[in-house]
Amino acid sequence: MVAIILDYFGDWKTRRLTCPACGWTGTFEEGLTELYDSLQDCQCPGEHGSASAPMLAVLPYPTLEEWQAHAAQLSPGERTYIGQIENGRERFNRMKLRFASQLPDLTEPVLDLAWDQEGEEVVIRLGERKIWREPVRYEALWRYEQVLALLQAKYGSRLRDLAPTPAAEYHLYGDKVAYPAAVQRFRSRLRRAWEASGHRPPGS
Ligand SMILES: [Zn+2]
Repeated sequence: MVAIILDYFGDWKTRRLTCPACGWTGTFEEGLTELYDSLQDCQCPGEHGSASAPMLAVLPYPTLEEWQAHAAQLSPGERTYIGQIENGRERFNRMKLRFASQLPDLTEPVLDLAWDQEGEEVVIRLGERKIWREPVRYEALWRYEQVLALLQAKYGSRLRDLAPTPAAEYHLYGDKVAYPAAVQRFRSRLRRAWEASGHRPPGS
């Protein structure tokens, strides 16, 4: 069976769901619910022996745009929450790195940079020196990739690494188990580009 997809701004709190296998009926919140990043789902809480209980419904979380479109029906708590997301996004857009030309000129022949975090800010470092800082985003592999491209545009083949520090890992990876390996792939590619441009790994 296919689970019903519910509308967050609809009647999902009162709508009755029925299990086609055991006949259980109840609301979404009376079922076995589980929380994920972008949705919540509901399994039948009835008795199903060794078979797995059917998935009755899925409740996707609204996007920021959907929240904004339903602003009138939000509770004060939801409005505060949305305001915080909007402020965070606005602040990020105002302070983020946009152009390679915003980055400082560096004279070092090899650049092993770090993707560090201080408080709520990502800090790109060369040793102790801060090259760039901007508001941190959560599960921000996309941002790592964008900043890496800007760093490469500015520093060319002298850029050899952009290594996340332990302080930055929580926000960079979040709950995404595939992200550490993805970052590793970016770093390996960077390293290969550095070697291909005529540089040699140390010791060879
Ligand atoms: Zn059931």
